[in-house]
Amino acid sequence: MPDPGPAYTALFKEKANAPFVHGILYNIAHGIDVPIRANFTSLRQGAPAFVCATKPGQIMWSDVDGIVQDGYTDCMRVGAAGNALLGLRIIILCPDFFSFPAQPPRSRSQCMTVDPQHPDSFLGDGESMAGYQLWILLHELAHAYIYAANGGSSDIYLVNDNLDLQAAEAVKNAQSFTYYVASKLATQVFLIRSSYWARLTVTTDLFLDCTNFPLPGTNSPSTQTHGIELLETKGHLISDATTMSSA
Ligand SMILES: [Zn+2]
Repeated sequence: MPDPGPAYTALFKEKANAPFVHGILYNIAHGIDVPIRANFTSLRQGAPAFVCATKPGQIMWSDVDGIVQDGYTDCMRVGAAGNALLGLRIIILCPDFFSFPAQPPRSRSQCMTVDPQHPDSFLGDGESMAGYQLWILLHELAHAYIYAANGGSSDIYLVNDNLDLQAAEAVKNAQSFTYYVASKLATQVFLIRSSYWARLTVTTDLFLDCTNFPLPGTNSPSTQTHGIELLETKGHLISDATTMSSA
């Protein structure tokens, strides 16, 4: 395997984890089935399904302590845009989700800037890159597939906190996958929403290919020019995901 490129190195650190990271992205792009918890076998198998929470009483489940939870109430309490119900193959889209723009501009102006004062960090918190419906969907899908693969449910969100994660933590953290894909691809996506279900259609992709990344654990400017990114070698994966979920 060729050496990983700067985006992979900044976020995931260890070359040995590249097959795992690639596997998660592959599973997301292909809508692979996720397992369902043993006591929820009435749910049918399949890829994670998106459900829009618009009022209380629509989506209810028992948490690990047996306490009944309500999807809409949870959205409003936490102030979240989405919530992946791990082990239940359901992703709730909260009302706040629809306040975000659908997708980023297809321009390298979207790339984050390395902080000239602190070359191991980006300027800002990453929200300028991550604050789009497209990347919120990817974040929630990453939760579902990471949990299915290694039981991880880490939710470290700010980009410089992501850069600080050790390799073993990064592969459990949904937002690490989101920043990785968001910095390499600008993807056109359509979310078709009915009153209750949402359906995601990804129609085409375009490499954004941000190249300037902090070098983890160093205090020198990012001058790394070598290395291959997973998405450069497997650029077809995302565009294969023509339909990620349906009712
Ligand atoms: Zn999350």
